[in-house]
Amino acid sequence: MSITFENTYTDLPAHFYSRLKPTPVSSPGLIRCNDALCKTLLIDPGWISSDAGVKFVAGNFIPAGADPIATVYAGHQFGNWNPQLGDGRAILMGEVKDQHGQRYDIQLKGSGPTPYSRGGDGRAPLGPILREYIVSEAMHALAVPTCRSLAAVTTGDSVHREQTLPGAVIARVAKSHIRIGTFQFFAAQEDHVALKALYDHVIKRHYAAAMEQENPTQAMFMMVMQRAATLVAHWQSLGFIHGVMNTDNILLSGETIDYGPCAFIDAFDPNKVFSSIDRNGRYAYSNQPGIMHWNLSNLAQCLLPLLHENQDTALTLAQDMINQFPDLMRQAYLEKLTAKLGIQHIQPDDIKLIEELLNLMTEQASDFTLTFRYLADLVDAKSAAKSVSGVAEEFQLDDAFKPWIARWQQRLAAENVPPEALKIRLLTANPIFIPRNHLIQAAIEAATNQQNFQPFNELVDLLSKPFDFKADFAHYARPPNADQIVQNTFCGT
Ligand code: AMP
Ligand code: MG
Repeated sequence: MSITFENTYTDLPAHFYSRLKPTPVSSPGLIRCNDALCKTLLIDPGWISSDAGVKFVAGNFIPAGADPIATVYAGHQFGNWNPQLGDGRAILMGEVKDQHGQRYDIQLKGSGPTPYSRGGDGRAPLGPILREYIVSEAMHALAVPTCRSLAAVTTGDSVHREQTLPGAVIARVAKSHIRIGTFQFFAAQEDHVALKALYDHVIKRHYAAAMEQENPTQAMFMMVMQRAATLVAHWQSLGFIHGVMNTDNILLSGETIDYGPCAFIDAFDPNKVFSSIDRNGRYAYSNQPGIMHWNLSNLAQCLLPLLHENQDTALTLAQDMINQFPDLMRQAYLEKLTAKLGIQHIQPDDIKLIEELLNLMTEQASDFTLTFRYLADLVDAKSAAKSVSGVAEEFQLDDAFKPWIARWQQRLAAENVPPEALKIRLLTANPIFIPRNHLIQAAIEAATNQQNFQPFNELVDLLSKPFDFKADFAHYARPPNADQIVQNTFCGT
């Protein structure tokens, strides 16, 4: 059985997209099929893994019902306005619904040139495809809203970058691929008819509850801001640096997308930047909330014609809403970070406790993930005897943390929960296994240089349960040795 596609994006006006087929590849080979995701989407994993399914992912076979298109958008890239971007190496094959009726896009990435390729080849090397697969699925397991990986294939063709590399294609799934940049494209052209059509599509698809409100556009924008604040707070709580928070990489659905130069911080540094092209540190860890604010104000600007018929009133409404973002962000951040400390009943001073810990971690260049994970062993002064975190043998906190730990233990007493329950809170809020840069790098190198996909598969399997310590895989929890540290990440386009 193939895939039952629906197509609603193609109901939008013709200038929203270009209809075209993926360019076939020489000899498709399956890298991995995401059986669990297939089942959620009511797709037979046996079919995806079959000859026909692999050809579908590679772009060599178009199932009946698919209506492949590349969509157009614009965007601010590193703050610079680009009036026309678009799917330059991705093709939307169609939409599917899960058992709850939730609609998802299935998009192929690396599937050949489109009218929006701007001189690019429309292809992707194996490395970035594996990175996207590993990190997007890890993020999902960490409960972060994200696009997902349905399957990946090798193409049998080479991709020419600085080196010649094996090519690959990924089938990516998201609630939609509509970006802030999609709104910007039509708003910049003052194409109000298109803007309204896009808005109608988005509110119906992603924010149906807003349609019931007195001013649906206003209600929708508040919901967009709430999702964005929660998303960025989630990133911050994991030490995740997105790396390319351009407006064309921010989805209206509130899911994380574009796993190009992203990275998880090992030794904590709030100013950390990994991306080789982010020379000014625009997308540094500590800048992510502010950049999301900036991106959202661009979206608000696009929505002005829909917010109110009187444009002065619309501007006031938009400004009032956008001014609320820092508070939404602070609250979302406080909720995520207090949870990591085992706190459920938030008190006004808790933000100080968080800030003091992060300052200590910065001074001590303490590993972000293991510091939080280790707290499970320290919930009270007495219970320290038996380690539950899985990190105790390898990891110590410097004595400089002692006064903070004492204050935190005192604070936990106010939660009025027995130590065993606190430990469970901490172990379920703080992962032990994350996609560390050096592990991703090693998996990519084995696959690219030796056609060995075992490290990749092992990593994907392990990261599907990031909170469960497995002694056999303890080495995957460790921070990199000095010679394993990855200094820079690349888009790899
Ligand atoms: P990104 O940095 O991944 O957000 O990409 C920015 C823009 O460049 C998007 O419109 C992509 O579709 C396009 N792009 C990136 N890589 C390629 C490629 N290899 N061929 C064609 N277009 C590309
Ligand atoms: Mg992009």
